[in-house]
Amino acid sequence: ADREREAAFTGPGRTKDGQQVPLLLNVGKAADMSDDGEGVGLFRTEFLFLGRTASPSVDEQETAYRELFEAAGDRKVVLRTLDAGADKPLPFLGLADEENPALGIRGLRTARVRPEVLTDQLEAVSRAATATGADVWVMAPMVATAAEAAEFASLVHKAGLRTAGVMIEVPAAALHARQILASVDFVSIGTNDLSQYTMAADRMNGELADLLDPWQPAVLSLVATVAAAGRDLNKPVGICGEAAGDPLLAPVFAGMGITTLSMSAPSVSAVRASLATHTMADCQRLAELALNAADAQTARKAVAGR
Ligand code: PEP
Ligand code: MG
Repeated sequence: ADREREAAFTGPGRTKDGQQVPLLLNVGKAADMSDDGEGVGLFRTEFLFLGRTASPSVDEQETAYRELFEAAGDRKVVLRTLDAGADKPLPFLGLADEENPALGIRGLRTARVRPEVLTDQLEAVSRAATATGADVWVMAPMVATAAEAAEFASLVHKAGLRTAGVMIEVPAAALHARQILASVDFVSIGTNDLSQYTMAADRMNGELADLLDPWQPAVLSLVATVAAAGRDLNKPVGICGEAAGDPLLAPVFAGMGITTLSMSAPSVSAVRASLATHTMADCQRLAELALNAADAQTARKAVAGR
């Protein structure tokens, strides 16, 4: 019955009163593309690197990126540079064993050790973007400081790419979203890691699921902080963690001022239907309810009850 109700809503993501909230796709390869999505909000590029004894060549990467860009057609693609380390180990990077890999050399930090892996990747992305004419936005994972964001943006521009952004998945970056947005064009919130690092709860540990809950008031509060910074600087703030695909949270995020939601293809229709049944004023009320709740359960119940 839910599926039937959802099917009544088609077209771009928008609230009941017509405010656009584009619904984008999280993909790992061209085969993950779907027509049901206004673009790609997170192209995870790890796929190409996994199980390798050496980094894929620039040519090989260019081919893979072209394939995805062609599948996206004239829709925008947000490509995330290699997010290795921690839960995505890559032996060929030759990183030392660490006591606390989640707090170690991962994401953008791997460029401290192997800078050429990042510059090669940007070169391949740039060639693929030029060859296809695709609207490619590039973002870095695991950024903690405004200086890292600025450095990344300069590498992206040096590679001949126009649009640079970073993921917000470290609490420090959320708190300094304003400073970060000063040197990049957009940010995208990774609620999976943002929850892990805000709550100091390992995302791989099922016993801590209650703490990893994106409805935790502290996590929602950081999301709202980032959204507010984006509004003030007039720059896009997306969400690409799993929480973006939750039809109950989608109007809450829209009400905070989040500009795009990116999710796996099967989540799109439920999120579209949820947004379409709330006006932006409803969304703002839901955001306020969630932000003012004492705990995650109360927040979820308060929003579900509306
Ligand atoms: C996230 O952390 O929310 C995210 C989208 O990235 P990943 O799950 O790949 O770490
Ligand atoms: Mg992440």
